[in-house]
Amino acid sequence: LSRLPGIGRRSGERMAIKLVHDPVLLRDLTQALREATEELRCCSRCGAITRASEDPCRLCTDHRRDDALLCVVEDPSDIVLIEKSRGFNGRYHALMGRLSPMNGKGPADLRIEPLLRRVAEGKVTEVLLALNTDVESDATAGYLCHLLKDRKVKVTRLATGLPAGSGVMYADPLTLARAIEGRQPV
Ligand SMILES: [Zn+2]
Repeated sequence: LSRLPGIGRRSGERMAIKLVHDPVLLRDLTQALREATEELRCCSRCGAITRASEDPCRLCTDHRRDDALLCVVEDPSDIVLIEKSRGFNGRYHALMGRLSPMNGKGPADLRIEPLLRRVAEGKVTEVLLALNTDVESDATAGYLCHLLKDRKVKVTRLATGLPAGSGVMYADPLTLARAIEGRQPV
């Protein structure tokens, strides 16, 4: 359990002890995990979590979505978050991580070739890089920009601004610098 993201050794132990003492919970969880193993997978086209019976996934096959706009994310969970925002109606492409030389993760370990193949199909006019904002993600974005430079697509990045409900007072310096860089006319 402690191998899961966000769960340390101590929390993992507490969960394990709870499961040992709660056979009903253990049974339900075991069943849910078995079903997930059998029924869920990553879409072969975009990488989003989908049912085995729906590959390509609904996001890829929904004809109301815009084929010209392709949003590149690091992980399938990012697709869920962007969908919840209801602010995007194009297609998705999950890289399954980011470049991380420290952890031995290079371009061949990410879904970069499939991305280039999708762009080469010719429908995409804009690639939106919706990656995270730390050093490794910035390096990944830079690498993708370089690869996409000569492919007749516009490459954009998410504007980063101040979080809703927050203000200048609470923003860290990098967020503030990006908010100023991405300022809008009023
Ligand atoms: Zn898909």
